[in-house]
Amino acid sequence: MSASSTPTGRSGRALVVEDEPHIRELVSLHLELDGLTVVHAADGDEALGHLAADVFDVVILDLMLPRVDGLAICRAIRRGETNRTVPILMLTARREEADKVLGLDSGADDYLTKPFGVAELTARVRALLRRPRTEAAAASSSGSAAPITAGPLRVDPARRRVEVHGDPVDLTPHEFDVLALLAASPGVVFSRRRLLEAVWPHDVHVTDRSVDTVIKRLRQKVEREPGTPALILTAWGTGYKFADD
Ligand code: CA
Repeated sequence: MSASSTPTGRSGRALVVEDEPHIRELVSLHLELDGLTVVHAADGDEALGHLAADVFDVVILDLMLPRVDGLAICRAIRRGETNRTVPILMLTARREEADKVLGLDSGADDYLTKPFGVAELTARVRALLRRPRTEAAAASSSGSAAPITAGPLRVDPARRRVEVHGDPVDLTPHEFDVLALLAASPGVVFSRRRLLEAVWPHDVHVTDRSVDTVIKRLRQKVEREPGTPALILTAWGTGYKFADD
């Protein structure tokens, strides 16, 4: 059945990952009846292939799968690029399993315990499709959240990610905040005091030296030659600024 022939006319792409054929077919059928275009996978490897190649609006994911289990897929989705913010509904055999999975901060949004009714399934999926996607919402609600590119450096405030030459760089939250603040206003000098107030607003124990330490570590992580920085520049006597050319 194609999505366009459904009476409701709902749109959206669902990925159904389930190794038990009858459940996979049941879930797929009812989501299609509800107006979704459904792609399905019988194991984790197949699911990861679809997730890398295609954008989905919702993922229905069985916890117990051969080879790569649902938990690992969940985490791969949240770490990945293409479907990072997609809502995930986990299918589990036992309620205790589901509680554990959600408690592990796996990135799943909701769960259903087998056996479940199709009305419950479609209601949960609809609820997930209506839910605003946190990161996407954050990115669209603030103009300054657009990714910033400077030479080999890319700072993505919405995802709190930094890359140099396309390779991800691990930053602490404070390092990220300082870099994002500077990079958002190239050429603007930020005093140590201003950086302190912006990045450590409630911490009375930090000093100007804390700022200098963070800057030093940042340069080691993102500059080609940390000793002669090209991106994070010192404004002598005042503070720091991001290169503006
Ligand atoms: Ca299973």
